[in-house]
Amino acid sequence: MQITKEPKITLDNSLIVKKNLVGLSKKEVFDLLSSLESSTKKASMRAKQIWSWIYCHGEKNFSEMTNIDKNFRSDLDKNFSIERLNIAKKETSLDGTIKYLFSLKDDSKIETVFIPEKKRGTLCISSQVGCTLNCSFCHTGTQKLVRNLTSEEIVGQLMTVYDDLDHWEKSKKKKDGLSDCDIITNIVFMGMGEPLLNYSEVRQSVLILISDRGLDFSRRRITISTAGVVPLLKKAHDELGCMIAISLHATENKTRDILVPLNRKWPIDTLIKTLKEDLKLRNSERITFEYVMLKNINDTEIDAKRLVKIIEGLPSKINLIPFNNWSGTNYERSTQKKIEEFSKIIKKAGFPSPVRSPRGEDIMAACGQLRSNTLKKKLHDV
Ligand code: SAH
Repeated sequence: MQITKEPKITLDNSLIVKKNLVGLSKKEVFDLLSSLESSTKKASMRAKQIWSWIYCHGEKNFSEMTNIDKNFRSDLDKNFSIERLNIAKKETSLDGTIKYLFSLKDDSKIETVFIPEKKRGTLCISSQVGCTLNCSFCHTGTQKLVRNLTSEEIVGQLMTVYDDLDHWEKSKKKKDGLSDCDIITNIVFMGMGEPLLNYSEVRQSVLILISDRGLDFSRRRITISTAGVVPLLKKAHDELGCMIAISLHATENKTRDILVPLNRKWPIDTLIKTLKEDLKLRNSERITFEYVMLKNINDTEIDAKRLVKIIEGLPSKINLIPFNNWSGTNYERSTQKKIEEFSKIIKKAGFPSPVRSPRGEDIMAACGQLRSNTLKKKLHDV
């Protein structure tokens, strides 16, 4: 279990709260170092060195940063920290999926899920504590405490899982050709929260995830999933260049208004028009649509045909997600037969339509099952 560093008390008993460098932008790190270094050039060099120690080597102690002179290391240690999140609970599913419950500094809780597969590993991260969208079939929506996560907490999820999975040691060995370090190949913002309602912190965290000589993720391996915050779709797509997934779940507004209440603000035609006309997709890029299969709600042949019509002309992939059950819901999963028939119609129209096999169901880690037992608090910041 990771323990967050206690603030240090100096001899005169004043409290020094060290600034955590994880999650700060490159410019913010540079600005902080400028207060300790005499010249801009030196501060810039130090910022690059420290960035690489934090994100390439996973180093948490300034004293180990051997290419930085000793006095400066000690100044760094006096002023800054390199922190991880506190793992409150870790559960491993029979299928190898790992669910982490993190306890944040204000005691709120978030969940992050690691999904290992044969040739890839996906980390499903949260962007908010809870979610304000109240999608009627989603467990996370039943949690009332909601706040935006900071970039520190978003990047912290990956850094903490990297520690836990021994990524840094394994990646060192990889350089010697000894082992495969690509434990996490993909990152999806599909945990708790609506990433586009926390755009500035999500943006900053993505820029850290993709920074070279750092975590170095390819934009193509990062997916932002949204219920359809239309005004931010183009901005997110153009600025970040990562993949966009849309939680569609219904093919006509009457049903989608209930499943995804955000639809009342930005209905299906507005959403699709933005995707088709405003987003300039790159070569071979496509939009992923998430479609939860709910018995007798959205799983008919008519729905499948309507879906094909809606996405006509838009390079798309439709992920069919069999509904994951949670106690207290009235929804049920569509039958296997219905799901297959639905998929067939979409495939016939030329769109890939894989059926997602639920992962980590036994530990409530599958899509839409995340929910931490935090207290009811006032909604704010969203
Ligand atoms: N708010 C964002 C990110 C959440 S991603 C979004 O809506 O895209 C989580 C995905 O799991 C979404 O597609 C969500 O609709 C889906 N989901 C939620 N509850 C589910 C459930 N019980 N079974 C299957 N999928 C679910």
